Amino acid sequence: MPVYKAPLRDMKFLLNEVFDYPGHYATLTSGENATPDIVDAILGECGKFCEEVLSPLYLSGDEEGCKLDNGEVTTPAGYRDAYQQYAMGGWQGLSAPEEYGGQGLPASMGLLKQEMMGTANWPFSMYPGLSLGAMNTIFLHGTEDQKQTYLAPLTEGRWAGTMCLTEPQCGTDLGQVKTKAEPQADGSYRLTGTKIFISSGDHDLTENIVHIVLARLPDAPKGTRGISLFIVPKFLPDSNGDVGERNGVVCGSLEKKMGIKASATCVLNFDGATGFLIGPENEGLNCMFTFMNTARIGTAIQGVGPAELSYQWALAYAKDRRSMRALSGKKEPDQVADSLIHHADVRRMLLTQKAIAEGGRAMLYYSARLADHMVEGFTEGDDKKAEKYDDKLGFLTPILKGFLTELGCEAANLGVQVFGGHGYIREHGMEQIVRDTRIATLYEGTTGIQALDLLGRKVLLTTQGGAVREFTLNIANFARKHLTDKRLRPWALELLKLTGQWNLLTVRIMLAARKDRDVVSSASYDFLMYSGYVTMAYIWLRQAAVAVDKLDNGGEESTGFYQAKLATTEFYFERLLPRAQSHATSMLSPSKNLMQLDAEDLAFTG
Ligand SMILES: Cc1cc2nc3c(=O)[nH]c(=O)nc-3n(C[C@H](O)[C@H](O)[C@H](O)COP(=O)(O)OP(=O)(O)OC[C@H]3O[C@@H](n4cnc5c(N)ncnc54)[C@H](O)[C@@H]3O)c2cc1C
Repeated sequence: MPVYKAPLRDMKFLLNEVFDYPGHYATLTSGENATPDIVDAILGECGKFCEEVLSPLYLSGDEEGCKLDNGEVTTPAGYRDAYQQYAMGGWQGLSAPEEYGGQGLPASMGLLKQEMMGTANWPFSMYPGLSLGAMNTIFLHGTEDQKQTYLAPLTEGRWAGTMCLTEPQCGTDLGQVKTKAEPQADGSYRLTGTKIFISSGDHDLTENIVHIVLARLPDAPKGTRGISLFIVPKFLPDSNGDVGERNGVVCGSLEKKMGIKASATCVLNFDGATGFLIGPENEGLNCMFTFMNTARIGTAIQGVGPAELSYQWALAYAKDRRSMRALSGKKEPDQVADSLIHHADVRRMLLTQKAIAEGGRAMLYYSARLADHMVEGFTEGDDKKAEKYDDKLGFLTPILKGFLTELGCEAANLGVQVFGGHGYIREHGMEQIVRDTRIATLYEGTTGIQALDLLGRKVLLTTQGGAVREFTLNIANFARKHLTDKRLRPWALELLKLTGQWNLLTVRIMLAARKDRDVVSSASYDFLMYSGYVTMAYIWLRQAAVAVDKLDNGGEESTGFYQAKLATTEFYFERLLPRAQSHATSMLSPSKNLMQLDAEDLAFTG
């Protein structure tokens, strides 16, 4: 059975040599304890836990799935034990505040952990992932009392959390939320309604589950301005903060779904359940979305993880499986045939996976530094700092989430292709990666919604192109510095050209949208993908520049490692980056080619 190997060499290259995390941590209050030795030890331990505990449960969890019996959900065999080890290891509180029992390490450490755990076993990692969402919300918007009651058990992993937004009639358009919250004489609320698709909505991993729920107060304004946020625990805490009376929220059914079968996706029925308001009345959506940028980086990991996992397994297979002879002559004359790795087309697939996995990881690590500053701003009450980094991250998160999860699906599909027919057969796990990955482009905002957020809100509405100008200025400055090295010059030149083009495209869309409002939607997907390819090119150039320097002056890694970085940069610039031009052409085409057909004329059935 295939297993996951933590890509520690690549992670350390990015942390120490490309993005100077030791220097970065030295500037953070929360970075005081994140010394290189400690970071190294944490990564090593985390890698071991992922390889030895989480990875072996990946395939069996899919086979068995979750079960619902008498309103209680059970997770697949081995999950409870793995979760106990996770909680005992203190992993849930890695980046949580020390005052509530966490280790107070920078937010980026949590993301590094999430990347490894998510790659080894995404369905498992969703349970603690959702808890983090609940913890962040309570930390930022809860009263002191609520923090005291809920944060410590959540941080210890004794309790888990969920985020309950979606209802049958709405997922994207939360202005349609109907769940009711009626005020009670004791200051609590009674919640009634149905939420669907709730990840980790019920399970047997923890003694309690803390639901964070969007609902409407009586007489609340219609739409998004009338939604409030509530804490609804599965068991009401007693006066000592221990698990008390069972609350009126039950799992009505488990969703039958394409993948992530070991993750319990629940229909939750709130039947007069007791809830507690969190944050101001009618500002629930704002509260819910405060930490959305970090949550979305979390989901972007689900683009990188499958690319890495699928690549690891496909690479091993391509070295082992033999088929025909290489076109340039026999490579393994003693064998009946050459292995797949010698065929150029198989290498195209493998290198695409590698470029996506390593390029995507580097994009995450680049952004995680910004997340550290943003979180520090929030926790220290420095609103200006928090806002500044939230804005920077706000521009990047739709790109990370939208682009990387789309590419994650591509990489997972290529993994199946490398295995040929065997990729379609369950035992190798390749088809499971495809099924598990597919959800990533849907939840936490579909790709379409990420694209609208990027182009419509972040680029056109709020900054009138300023966000693109600011980001491309950084890229151009970096590229200019590397024009003199002949190994980097062609890539630096290409990147310079693209920064100009990105700005020009933005202006052209802005002008077109003034005459035709549909342009924002019709151009948005191509704009998002174009932005992703250019951002990834920048990040590949950053890796290549370090590789060149280390080849000349020596570094922590082997010559082969740095040469592989240059070869992958070359592959990326010559074979994947050209896709940006097709997106550029497509985004400028008029919306008419999408909108001219009447809805009735889209099909000719019946
Ligand atoms: C396995 C799984 C786990 C989930 N976990 C959770 C969870 O824990 N908590 C939770 O609250 N929800 C959860 N969800 C719900 C998920 O977030 C939603 O399904 C998602 O937000 C999309 O909403 P929808 O399904 O209602 O699609 P819709 O909103 O109906 O969208 C359908 C399509 O229309 C497009 N679209 C919609 N509006 C526009 C527009 N204005 N412009 C252009 N295109 C548009 C979308 O991009 C999409 O392609 C989960 C879903 C699944 C399947």
